[in-house]
Amino acid sequence: MRRGGPGWAAVKRIVWERAGGRCERCGRKFEPVLKAKTARDGHEYQVQVHPGFEYDHVREIADGGALLDPENVQLLCAGREGSCHWLKTRLFGAARRSAGFTSKRRGDHGFTTSPQAS
Ligand SMILES: [Zn+2]
Repeated sequence: MRRGGPGWAAVKRIVWERAGGRCERCGRKFEPVLKAKTARDGHEYQVQVHPGFEYDHVREIADGGALLDPENVQLLCAGREGSCHWLKTRLFGAARRSAGFTSKRRGDHGFTTSPQAS
């Protein structure tokens, strides 16, 4: 799993607090939203979600970036065309294509697809 587990949750909290709830590139502010969820036993609870942004790895995991290092994670606005995450993904994809990267070469950077990264 690329993201998930208690380690990732802790990283997200650190990054969120460092960013002050704003996109770290353009400064757009995110408003937390309470979302109702229902547990398997029918019990209802609320979770705080922050729609419209992504926790983004500055240096991609595929390129040897640290998965759970808060210094390698940034908060970016996302989800719509022109957003910071959208732009980064687009630029990254273009750079990767021009560099001739393929999924086979990812293995050369130490990226493994083990189900539990933590
Ligand atoms: Zn942004």
